[in-house]
Amino acid sequence: MSVKYEAIRQSIIDIGIEMADSALVVGTWGNISARVPGEDYIAITPSGVDYHAIKPEDIVILDMEGNIIDSDKKPSIESHMHLAVYKDRKDVNAVIHTHSTYCTAMAIARKPIPAAAEDMVQIVGGDVRVSEYFLPGSQELAHSATEALKGRNAVILANHGCLGAGKDLKETLKIVSVVEKSAQATIYANILGGVVELEQKDVDFMRDFYLNKYGQR
Ligand code: 13P
Ligand code: ZN
Repeated sequence: MSVKYEAIRQSIIDIGIEMADSALVVGTWGNISARVPGEDYIAITPSGVDYHAIKPEDIVILDMEGNIIDSDKKPSIESHMHLAVYKDRKDVNAVIHTHSTYCTAMAIARKPIPAAAEDMVQIVGGDVRVSEYFLPGSQELAHSATEALKGRNAVILANHGCLGAGKDLKETLKIVSVVEKSAQATIYANILGGVVELEQKDVDFMRDFYLNKYGQR
């Protein structure tokens, strides 16, 4: 039997396995979504299912109001947060929420990741802010995360974890991985005496370079 929207569902499964195997989440926490090409829908991981056990039909297809279009699984409890990001950001086609170790350290200390590491400012667009605390799965968390994400591609969720938003699933996995590395480096730099932040003009230059010139074109 064929599964509708199989390609995007399989891509989410593949990214989920990569995310779990790189310890960006432990157990079934975290979640992944992407816009469904050609439709006003998103595809999102089911709630509380092991990343290695998710089948294409388990990936839930939602409309932009959160109604289930396809799948008999319950969608991620963070569907509100994913939908709020897509509604606010036309440039975003994929969202990944992680509970990685060093981002969790920043999250429980409620400390932003300063704009200091060059790869992070290129891919995120500046510092990574901390959103106001609200309970997981709440509409309030969806709103606070979207606000703190403005002009950036990642946000730290207070006492919770990280959310990355990018142009596709591969870039978004790279975003949450670079943010995790930068969170770790920030903590080490603080042990060494403190972080030296980049000047805004250099952040702007590197962001433009990443968006318009970096890599093979
Ligand atoms: P789900 O398993 O429902 O996606 O929830 C995990 C999580 O990280 C909640 O914030
Ligand atoms: Zn979470």
